[in-house]
Amino acid sequence: MAHALIALGGNVGDVRATFRKAIANICGMTQGALLARSSDYATPPWGDVEQAPFVNACMEIDTPLDPHALLFALQKIETKFGRDRQNERRWGPRTLDLDLIAYEDVSLERPELTLPHPRLFERAFVLVPLAEMSPDRVIGGRSIASALAELSTDGIERLPDAT
Ligand code: ATP
Ligand code: CA
Ligand code: CA
Repeated sequence: MAHALIALGGNVGDVRATFRKAIANICGMTQGALLARSSDYATPPWGDVEQAPFVNACMEIDTPLDPHALLFALQKIETKFGRDRQNERRWGPRTLDLDLIAYEDVSLERPELTLPHPRLFERAFVLVPLAEMSPDRVIGGRSIASALAELSTDGIERLPDAT
């Protein structure tokens, strides 16, 4: 079994409801145990600012799948929840984006899978939920809290727990 950190994002549809269902699917399809889940956060769009705000969250699972099999399962779940990769622009609107942030201490540099996620340290919308779960965790030689201290968190708001 291996620990994996997954970032969730979306800005089309009822994203928080999608997250709830997607998390159950992730645990089922990856034979994974849910170890931790952050709150949901409202975040300003990144990369392509001409679109609706996003909801972002992070989760940690324990899974028997290898990194490629895990990514494949995540992509199937994105599609199941309406992600249409053929008809979208880079960093544009989407129902559900599931990124593999880290898998144990594995380091990989392939186009189809780079680990840790290559843009992690540029993104407060990923680091804020990760810091809620485990600020002292070190990824790629940097602690989450210290990486976050270098970024602006303007516009990122924790959403109240869903009832
Ligand atoms: P970004 O990668 O900057 O967050 P994105 O999530 O919008 O952008 P996608 O269109 O979802 O990008 O994915 C593009 C490709 O990135 C996928 O085909 C996938 O194989 C590849 N990829 C590489 N490393 C990772 C990773 N760590 N997690 C998820 N996808 C990855
Ligand atoms: Ca992404
Ligand atoms: Ca992605």
